[in-house]
Amino acid sequence: MEKSHFELVILGAGPAGLSAGLYASRARIDHVLIEKGAPGGQVLTTDWVDNYPGFPDGISGFDLIDNMTAHAKKFDVNILTKEVASVELSDPDSKRIVFGDGSSLTCDALIICTGASPNKIGVPGEAELAGKGVSYCGTCDAPFYRDMHVAVIGGGDTAVEEADYLTRFASKVTIIHRRDELRAVKVLQEIAFANKKIDYVWNSQVTSIEGDKEVERLQLVDNDGSTSALEVQGVFVLIGITPNNAILPLEELKADQWGFIPTDAETLTSVSGVFAAGDIRSKLMRQIVNACGEGANSVIAAEHYLKSRSEN
Ligand code: NAP
Repeated sequence: MEKSHFELVILGAGPAGLSAGLYASRARIDHVLIEKGAPGGQVLTTDWVDNYPGFPDGISGFDLIDNMTAHAKKFDVNILTKEVASVELSDPDSKRIVFGDGSSLTCDALIICTGASPNKIGVPGEAELAGKGVSYCGTCDAPFYRDMHVAVIGGGDTAVEEADYLTRFASKVTIIHRRDELRAVKVLQEIAFANKKIDYVWNSQVTSIEGDKEVERLQLVDNDGSTSALEVQGVFVLIGITPNNAILPLEELKADQWGFIPTDAETLTSVSGVFAAGDIRSKLMRQIVNACGEGANSVIAAEHYLKSRSEN
């Protein structure tokens, strides 16, 4: 019979969840790491990772996750592949994970590592050229575009901040925005407007991303209906990210206005014994390196919680 109670459940096997699993297993905590599909999360679809320490020549997202999964398995992380339908936290003494097939299990402590997904513009060429000039992370991929002309889609803080960062490498950055004014906070706008390498296409949307093997041009439509093409070697789609929170009780977790989960510095959420690590957390920086650190941290915090529970 399948075990129906664990001391610790970890939800999601991206970098945060795999790191949490590794630390939990090595700490000999009775645990299960639940993932609905293949481990990896966003990294699995990341073509090349150039900023994860220890890999000076970079590593493909696929290989990095393959290594992290192998590392977890080497230390006997208990991975369960099953789709979670909901998480119930109304009983503080027994958190319940309900699966799509109606079965469930309970746990004393829970670490949420369900991640987030970048929003897509959903035009032809976007999926086909992802990793071949289409990117969702300026901080990650900027160095690949040294001395090239790239476009940034979006007008929020992320788009404007990343456009400025991209000019450290790219020769020119064109921000394409669907309105005639940026949404970004004024201080970021001032920095961008003062940056001579940034120009703007206002009131416009991208209708397709074209290129043979890599991005070569964008087709645009202006709000007045006129069309044009823009030759670029890369396009950064920076129109917000969506937290993977559909299975979570957002009210109990006091999710922020965008649906991310606030925690304290030790990754503890507003619910006793429930921790959050990686991109699902409310925070400034969403990178693999801090997801891994938070995953490890959350296990240490959970271990303290479990110990204090057993002492009471
Ligand atoms: P955001 O504020 O939601 O902005 C998204 C941008 O993308 C908006 O300009 C929006 O246009 C545009 N957009 C949305 N859907 C689009 C579509 N289908 N096609 C074309 N454009 C589209 O997202 P964000 O910039 O990622 O920021 C998210 C949160 O993180 C914000 O609260 C932000 O303040 C915060 N943040 C803070 C910092 C910082 O403090 N340094 C840095 C980054 C992010 P419209 O303007 O027309 O809606």
